[in-house]
Amino acid sequence: MEAAIRERLDNFIRRKGLRQTPQRDEILEIIFASDEHFTPDQLLERLRIAGTKASRATVYRTLSLLLEADLIHEIELGDGQTTYDPNFIDHPNHNHLVCIDCGKVVEFEDSHLDLQTECLTRRLGYRAVRQSLRIEATCERLRQGGSCSDLIAARVKGKRLPNRKK
Ligand SMILES: [Zn+2]
Ligand SMILES: [Zn+2]
Repeated sequence: MEAAIRERLDNFIRRKGLRQTPQRDEILEIIFASDEHFTPDQLLERLRIAGTKASRATVYRTLSLLLEADLIHEIELGDGQTTYDPNFIDHPNHNHLVCIDCGKVVEFEDSHLDLQTECLTRRLGYRAVRQSLRIEATCERLRQGGSCSDLIAARVKGKRLPNRKK
């Protein structure tokens, strides 16, 4: 976990008058160990594998704390579940491309897009604070090769696949 995340959270916890708890720290370590998006269930699974004994309630409480501290964001990937994104401190304006075949999520940033948002927002008389675009796309690998290793991996892992709507 980066020192900046730790510091931001410690400040937030102090301001709220909360105590540090070893369990919460363990949950944080796991969340920020990767920049992968996750659902609460996926997080619980990661915690179980790591041998962390945190209850569902503790996990949900920690998630809302992190949301409030602006350390994670809720994103909607089109599968009807709440997904959390731990990767926006460094990249607050990143966007998501979601493959509707295999569910793979690709993050991207684009300065043209940011500029366009800026112009558009000002034209409407506002100031942009945050922007996130979601593109739903079909899998290049599936189209060209007839199979997609991401899809196979997703099925093996029992990952939820997106509802295909075309
Ligand atoms: Zn993201
Ligand atoms: Zn795909």
